Amino acid sequence: MKNLVILGGGYGGMKILNELLPNNLPEDVMITLVDRVPYHCLKTEYYALAAGTVSDKEVRVDFPEHPRLRVKFAEVIGVELQNKRVILKDAEPLNYDDLVIGLGCEDKYHDVPGAEQFTYSIQSIEKSRQTYSALNNLGPGSIVGIVGAGLSGVELASELTESRRDLNIKLFDRGKHILSAFPDRLSKYVEGWFKEHNVEIINNSNITRVEENTLYNNDNPIYCDVIVWTAGIQANKVVQNIDTEKDRSGRLVITPRHHLPTDEHIFIVGDCASLPHAPSAQLAEGQAVQIVEVLRKRWNGEEPPVEFPPIKLKGVLGSLGKKQGFGVMADRAITGRVARLLKSGVLWLYKFHNG
Ligand SMILES: Cc1cc2nc3c(=O)[nH]c(=O)nc-3n(C[C@H](O)[C@H](O)[C@H](O)COP(=O)(O)OP(=O)(O)OC[C@H]3O[C@@H](n4cnc5c(N)ncnc54)[C@H](O)[C@@H]3O)c2cc1C
Repeated sequence: MKNLVILGGGYGGMKILNELLPNNLPEDVMITLVDRVPYHCLKTEYYALAAGTVSDKEVRVDFPEHPRLRVKFAEVIGVELQNKRVILKDAEPLNYDDLVIGLGCEDKYHDVPGAEQFTYSIQSIEKSRQTYSALNNLGPGSIVGIVGAGLSGVELASELTESRRDLNIKLFDRGKHILSAFPDRLSKYVEGWFKEHNVEIINNSNITRVEENTLYNNDNPIYCDVIVWTAGIQANKVVQNIDTEKDRSGRLVITPRHHLPTDEHIFIVGDCASLPHAPSAQLAEGQAVQIVEVLRKRWNGEEPPVEFPPIKLKGVLGSLGKKQGFGVMADRAITGRVARLLKSGVLWLYKFHNG
């Protein structure tokens, strides 16, 4: 039997499973999925988990079951390229014939002293649960500082203000306007929503240090009861430690067939891969489809395509609480209730197809 090992059952890993199972896996191939969490997690909803507006169960989906799928619940701590094996914490190493690395990303703290130690995070389910607990145990009138007003910071701030109207939320952002990656019209719309909902936006901020309960913005101390960091991501530490070419965010450089330039049996999917687009669940899934095509061709003894057409991304949708939203679809900016309904529809469809 050949052993395909998939590290990480996130959007990329799950899509690979769904493309191969139940009927597209050759008889002589066995899959081993390794994850430190025993179910697939809907990372795109962690802002709502942290804000306390959805339950933990709503952001989980069971992994598929199949006689030739083994799900291993373990922490990956390294990959030995030379020996073709994966190193696990407190478990025997795993050998592979083909390996897919889809371990996602983690916060990037840009060397700001104290940031990692004194801020909460929504980059993993474990950390989102801690953030949920810290935010929802706050007394009335408490101050919450959210650092970074990209998609996840904006979604967290808006969801939290609907969940806890009694909190005093401050959203710190480097730019002149929040959501710098989005069209101006959307940034202004979202800023207007925050104004109406009493979320304070602090533009042109530069967080220089963090201490317990204190953010330093341009070296000026600002008291916060809880601070959440949403100001940047980088590849998972395991991936950063692999000795191969990387980009500035520690993501691994790959070929058009999505494998390492030096090893055609190691594929990189999702937030761990260096690609010309911003990392997203959609991108991870698009890559997964192409990786499966390469694997299936090889297993059939055929030559895989040298390259693939660009991955088609449908757009980005963000929520502003449960009723309003914003986004860009087919290059058009959309706002309000329609954007929110579309976002809920995308989530419903995802759960329907994976449930
Ligand atoms: C708040 C928020 C909102 C977002 N909204 C959107 C959106 O609207 N649309 C969109 O397309 N994208 C969105 N994203 C981005 C999207 O979630 C990621 O791009 C996507 O999850 C990447 O998929 P992945 O398969 O690379 O990794 P992930 O989905 O992060 O999966 C990684 C998996 O690896 C496991 N893992 C990690 N480290 C280890 C280890 N050492 N050992 C064992 N297992 C490990 C994890 O448990 C996890 O199951 C959002 C992200 C956040 C945080």
